[in-house]
Amino acid sequence: MSGQLAQQMPTVPPSADTPTHVMGTYGPRAFAAVRGEGAYLFDDAGRRYLDFTSGIAVNGLGHCHPALTKALQAQSDTLWHCSNLFEVPGQETLAGRLCADSFADAVFFTNSGAEALECAIKIARRFQHSAGQPQRHEVITFEGCFHGRTLATIAAAGQEKLVSGFGPVMAGFKQVPLGDIEAVRAALTDQTAAILIEPVLGEGGIKVVDPDFLGALRKICDEIGLLLMFDEVQCGIGRTGTLFAHEATGIAPDVMALAKGLGGGFPVGACLANAGASAGMTPGSHGSTFGGNPLAVAVANAVLDVIDQPDFLQDVADKGAEFLQSLTALKSQWPSVVADVRGRGLMLGLQITGSHMDFVAACRVAGLLLVPAAENVVRLLPPLTITAQELSDALEILHSVAKRFSDDA
Ligand SMILES: *Cc1c(COP(=O)(O)O)cnc(C)c1O
Repeated sequence: MSGQLAQQMPTVPPSADTPTHVMGTYGPRAFAAVRGEGAYLFDDAGRRYLDFTSGIAVNGLGHCHPALTKALQAQSDTLWHCSNLFEVPGQETLAGRLCADSFADAVFFTNSGAEALECAIKIARRFQHSAGQPQRHEVITFEGCFHGRTLATIAAAGQEKLVSGFGPVMAGFKQVPLGDIEAVRAALTDQTAAILIEPVLGEGGIKVVDPDFLGALRKICDEIGLLLMFDEVQCGIGRTGTLFAHEATGIAPDVMALAKGLGGGFPVGACLANAGASAGMTPGSHGSTFGGNPLAVAVANAVLDVIDQPDFLQDVADKGAEFLQSLTALKSQWPSVVADVRGRGLMLGLQITGSHMDFVAACRVAGLLLVPAAENVVRLLPPLTITAQELSDALEILHSVAKRFSDDA
């Protein structure tokens, strides 16, 4: 757009009926979000919503948590960006903390979840290459999982709705049904490099993967020298009541992708790996201009200050268990509307018998924001700091909407 034309344009944001220049990848949005405070999001008309989207499991500490605002402001007065030409002290701190509290020995910082997965996929290929098995390049993945929107990560998930029109689909991925260990065994070849799975599926409809299945995958990987890789982009960072979701299963991966909750709203991701898996990632093998920039790691360290505390995590687990019980009661009361309740910690889902999109819309009108997922599931992803009163307010809205849907059924 020319400068002159730009000056003539009104400065108010476009409403639903003015043309938008934001690329049409997201479809119409329900409202413009202009402010956030704790568990509440405010639209441009000043209306307040109880936010059980948390920016899709990102704002774990709610909106504008004072400790995060403070960390961001302090860092913005000191140094914004220097690239990875120079050491960023906050990266050392953050990587050290993530490794101290996990299976990992090394961390690569990214700006998003998909980039963390890209790093994981590169690690898998490089690991096998370094092990003298360069033909081992293929990653076994699971139907219904989601790993991002880059060319490699849509190929990893393999779903038609993700890859349609973006062919040729990148080679090197093979999807098998979730939970089917025989299908995994049948998919193994001398080209297999790694197995990648979400321990709790987010977009796929809030499915907690059976720990025995993860254990069986671990065993296969150990037997034939494959990397086990967990995508904890959505379920990690306290969301399920432990710092990492896999902690509750007793099964550790070799590589793990993180993002969403890590920056509490500041874009930052990470790919964690144990020493063996990361050994091949030598100088020059990978990089990112913005990855782990001083602003990002300052905020992420402040996020961990709050979330990575036993009492905080126990509180998430307790609130989640109690809320799950309330949701189970909701299902019993409105069986024609709610088909299933699932999840762990504060990563919870309701499977709706009718249109889950209509259910999300009705809850929004009633002041509660939810996230749709696959299989007619609506996700409840409140901030981890949610109070008992806010949970009870949300439950009241869910009951009123379920009652209306039940009456209409
Ligand atoms: C959101 C998500 C991604 C992709 O993260 P982006 O930051 O959107 O690239 C990958 N895996 C899982 C499990 C996710 O939920």
